Amino acid sequence: MTEFNHWRIEREAGGLAWLTFDKAGESTNTLSAQAMLELSQALDEFDREPPKGLVIRSGKSAGFIAGADIEEFTKVESAEGAKALVQRGWDLYNRLAAVKYPTLALIRGHCMGGGTELALACRYRIAVDEPGTRIALPEVMLGIVPGWGGMLRLPQVIGAAPALDMMLTGRALDAKKAKRLGFADECVPPRVMENAARMLVLSGHPRRQLPFMQRMMNGPLKGVVASQAKKQVAARARPEHYPAPYAILDMWANYGGNALAVPAGKPTSMEAIAASLTTKNLVRVYYLQERLKGFGKDSDFAPKHLHVIGAGVMGGDIAAWAALRGLTVTLQDQSIERIAPAIHRAAIAFKRKLRDDTQVRFALDRLIPDPSGQGVRQADVVIEAIFENLEAKQKLFADIEAIAKPDAVLASNTSSLRLEDIAAGLKHPSRLIGIHFFNPVAKMPLVEVVEGRESDPQALKKGLAFVRKIDKLALPVKSVPGFLVNAVLAPYMQEAMRCVDEGIAPEVVDEAALAFGMPLGPIELADTVGLDIAVAAGQQLASGISEPPKKLMELVSAGHLGRKTGRGFYTYNQGKPQKGAVGQMPAGLADRLIKPFLAAAQRCVEQGVVADAELADAGVIFGTGFAPFRGGPMNYLKERTA
Ligand code: NAD
Repeated sequence: MTEFNHWRIEREAGGLAWLTFDKAGESTNTLSAQAMLELSQALDEFDREPPKGLVIRSGKSAGFIAGADIEEFTKVESAEGAKALVQRGWDLYNRLAAVKYPTLALIRGHCMGGGTELALACRYRIAVDEPGTRIALPEVMLGIVPGWGGMLRLPQVIGAAPALDMMLTGRALDAKKAKRLGFADECVPPRVMENAARMLVLSGHPRRQLPFMQRMMNGPLKGVVASQAKKQVAARARPEHYPAPYAILDMWANYGGNALAVPAGKPTSMEAIAASLTTKNLVRVYYLQERLKGFGKDSDFAPKHLHVIGAGVMGGDIAAWAALRGLTVTLQDQSIERIAPAIHRAAIAFKRKLRDDTQVRFALDRLIPDPSGQGVRQADVVIEAIFENLEAKQKLFADIEAIAKPDAVLASNTSSLRLEDIAAGLKHPSRLIGIHFFNPVAKMPLVEVVEGRESDPQALKKGLAFVRKIDKLALPVKSVPGFLVNAVLAPYMQEAMRCVDEGIAPEVVDEAALAFGMPLGPIELADTVGLDIAVAAGQQLASGISEPPKKLMELVSAGHLGRKTGRGFYTYNQGKPQKGAVGQMPAGLADRLIKPFLAAAQRCVEQGVVADAELADAGVIFGTGFAPFRGGPMNYLKERTA
């Protein structure tokens, strides 16, 4: 029998075989060239002595398979190399799909990319019902396509519409949804998973058939489905910025899901994708995200109780998010009436996110209204999110310090006050750090962890660990006005508003930024943040260097504060800006808008606000949505001059 490094074959007396993927020397399974080669050798072995049934499972507690080996994939430099990599998986999984004996993938924990494609090549799939089970084809997020049979098989298994949704967005299924959509034949709890696998793989059950209409959508109606999906993609991503989703649609609709069948020269070919800078930059974004995830990982700080003071826009949502993530949270404000709206908002958000009444109940039980602030005494982390008023914050922290546990983290969510000034109210100013969330808390992945001049490094480490614990990306920054994210956004938004003062229509300004790849135009962004907040941020950051934009000041004096009042630069109808047609675009407008953004990012790196250029890119991408396919402002500057 062949000896394997990464796979294990066990045969049962009744003829059932188990093939366990347990990558040597690593905590997660990734499909490296070596692991794929061994899988093909395992199939040779089963050709020689076919089992009655084969179950493929993982030997890792972390999950099933995390996908292809990204390290290997990033080393591919030519289109030829990329095609060879695709060919390897395409052929191997076609071979697995064609074996005569029944096969089953037993999926517990993460199942991504090439792992999902392997599961799709099996006759049956069982998804184990536990919170870590997530099944996805996230290739599009790296600018590539599911080329190992995913585009061929997923639509056949779950139908074209949900399959395209998964492949075009990278969205994951949990175990229950996998069963509901027909990806999994069964969804079972962990304690019965082996038995369930044994019974199903030997059951002789025929493959599940899609209903008639669904089969039509994979057949004669493909073109219609593809053109609908293309419209949806076009609303989110432009082909010149993100070629991969367009390639997925073309490969599925016109080439049987075979990436290698698209002729070179077409913009949807493997050659075009391999040559696009987008892929390189999206992989870079993936690594940046991994780097941010690393902050706080090495700490043994395990906070269980968060106390939040101020139940407004920010405090209320920070409290809800942390409760959703499993912490016990006490939420304080001046009265119970001020806390009630935050609890109401949380209840709606929990229902939408958890979709299970018991889980919603548990999450709400963890979020405790605390008007008298009793929670401070037990809390591991205390976050202040009250009005932006220095005296009030100083007084509050003096009170907190007197009763909080001596090792609790004390943090302010302030956007514009100096941490050092707030800390002046403390006996031990070194205890104070900043934990700066962005609005809306549930949507924004980044949180800046701010080091004041006197902040204790241990407190900072704990702050980073806390942010990690609640599944946000922590970015360590120094205490300077605007930290990193607002310091780069403010001059860019000011420049945009100056363009409007010069007579360029807001629609034109926004379109220039969208064409560059920003997720939202700067004028619409200002309306969304609130024009009063934009004025305050501008004053703090420009600090008298330049006149505030005229139109902005006029709107604010008239009480038109943006989306929240129904009118700002745009008029809003049911929350949507009413935009006119985009007229003539002045030459160089996008460059003019982006220039202050890039200059501010560069300044932040030079001033050491973040430790290096890579972290500036990471912070700006996850904090502002800066065109991910450009790999961040510092990367863009480098590429532009290369
Ligand atoms: P908000 O006005 O919505 O809420 C502030 C809350 O604090 C109010 O409910 C008020 O009753 C309460 N409060 C005031 N003094 C208090 C006290 N002494 N004790 C208990 N509660 C008290 O404000 P917000 O927009 O949530 O901002 C809060 C903080 O977050 C500010 O420091 C702000 O700079 C910062 N921040 C705001 C945003 C944003 O977009 N709104 C983004 C990041 C950070």
